[in-house]
Amino acid sequence: MTQLPSLKEDCGQCAALCCLALSIDKGPHFAIDKPAGVPCPNLSGHQCKIHRWLRVEGFSGCTIYSCGGAGQRVTQELFAGQSWRDDKALTVPMMEAFRGMRAIQDRLAILVTAQERFLMDKDDADRVAEMISWLLPDALDFDAVRFFPGSPREGEIDVFLPSLRKYVER
Ligand code: SF4
Repeated sequence: MTQLPSLKEDCGQCAALCCLALSIDKGPHFAIDKPAGVPCPNLSGHQCKIHRWLRVEGFSGCTIYSCGGAGQRVTQELFAGQSWRDDKALTVPMMEAFRGMRAIQDRLAILVTAQERFLMDKDDADRVAEMISWLLPDALDFDAVRFFPGSPREGEIDVFLPSLRKYVER
């Protein structure tokens, strides 16, 4: 099992994957429509040209979004710092990996929080530790990441997580 990665975004280490991969619907939180896979027109390289004025420009949705640390992991750990900006062939693989890594990081955040904050029964504690180890393999594999959504392990984690509610209620 590898060390726990940061569960917070580090945009400086990411290739602006959220601004590329996510679709945006024009409305109260976004000033434009943007399909997934099309870079936001406010992007310059990997940086947002209106970062300081997101709210006044009608992009409050961007100020509350967090990838949970998925973006930098995909960019640095799976693509060694490369970017879809430099090689268009990387666009789809990076988007797929970003989707998978988001699912991994989201579940990791819940399991780690449970481990830190709950006094769990031994069986539950062992189960949580086991699931964390699934999400933190010694070597990160591109296919394992992109195919994580919908995988049996994701399903097993999602069935198990609601059982932890009993510790919140205690
Ligand atoms: S407005 Fe800025 S932060 Fe929001 S999607 Fe576009 S480039 Fe990214």
